[in-house]
Amino acid sequence: MKVVLQNLTKIFPSRDKKSGKEVVAVNDFTFEIPDGKLIGLLGPSGCGKSTTLYMISGLQKPTSGKIFFGEDDVTELSTENRGIGLVFQNYALYPHMTVKQNILFPLENLKGADRLTKEEMLKRAHDAAALVQIDDLMDRKPNELSGGQQQRVAIARALVKMPRVLLLDEPLSNLDARLRLQTREEIRRIQKETGITTVFVTHDQEEAMSISDMIVVMKLGVLQQIGKPQDVYDDPVNLFVAKFLGTPPINVLEGEVKGGKVCIGGAAVAEAPGVADQPVYIGIRPEGFELDANGALECKLSNVEVMGRDVSIVSTHESSVNPVIRSIIDADYAIDREAETVRYNIKPHKLFVFNKETEERIYF
Ligand code: ADP
Ligand code: MG
Repeated sequence: MKVVLQNLTKIFPSRDKKSGKEVVAVNDFTFEIPDGKLIGLLGPSGCGKSTTLYMISGLQKPTSGKIFFGEDDVTELSTENRGIGLVFQNYALYPHMTVKQNILFPLENLKGADRLTKEEMLKRAHDAAALVQIDDLMDRKPNELSGGQQQRVAIARALVKMPRVLLLDEPLSNLDARLRLQTREEIRRIQKETGITTVFVTHDQEEAMSISDMIVVMKLGVLQQIGKPQDVYDDPVNLFVAKFLGTPPINVLEGEVKGGKVCIGGAAVAEAPGVADQPVYIGIRPEGFELDANGALECKLSNVEVMGRDVSIVSTHESSVNPVIRSIIDADYAIDREAETVRYNIKPHKLFVFNKETEERIYF
């Protein structure tokens, strides 16, 4: 089921009587989620991710704009009638019910023509439980389960009605690191097996990048960029997106474009043909540095951190916006750890230039 958001806007009235300022939580959002895909809705806390998800679910009404499931305009439809499955960060299971009863609950509430027979309900509950691999835990109560198992129950409960669209709001945030990794792979597998169009909300860029067909990056209620994770990483439209994606994060330096060259502290590090002279921010991905004794960019060496296959060289430069510059270099390189300085050449496709005022990318 394709999902289309059309000029979707949500404005909350002011809670602060004095300032009287309303909050534009979601600002004129337009995008299409293709049928059967998993979309990662990504951005820092407070940028409007949950509000967007709640509008898709019907829990919140848009101030303006429309939502379509396929060709159906569902904007005025109640949550119950949208055919969605919802999973939240806190699993919100009924503590006095067993796993089986929790999963059956949405089916037992179906009315009229949608009502299933007892056998059908049990089969559906069992299939959903098997899909998330908790079918051997059906008689336990939620407090007899680990966090990861509880979240699987919540996912099974969301799937049991065979939703047209699955909506997940930070579903992994309460899990420890190892379970988070495992469960996100599970979610991806289940999504692929069922082919349900899914929106996965997270503030964790790595999580979004690793499981999404497409990511949607948001900032202060405004959509910044949509694309395949790798494409957005390789081609960020502005400094915010460049900084939000990637670990270690992108290195940002102050510099200028002068005579068609990108310069940092007077040293030309890249060509920028046809770009007008101007002050800029320069973003360089950690993997964009090449050690070279005659390299254009000279930095003060602080530390070399061994990471196994790679090493991370920590250095400083007076034009750096961040306290340090972090590069990732193949561990096979012989690095002189005692040296005072380190020189780099910059791989052109790992370097991005942004207008200093608008922070928009300058393409060349
Ligand atoms: P996210 O999920 O990305 O962290 P939210 O969608 O929860 O962000 O919130 C977006 C903005 O809307 C925030 O500034 C938040 O304070 C505000 N907001 C969310 N819900 C309400 C509400 N019910 N009333 C007023 N403001 C709200
Ligand atoms: Mg949220």
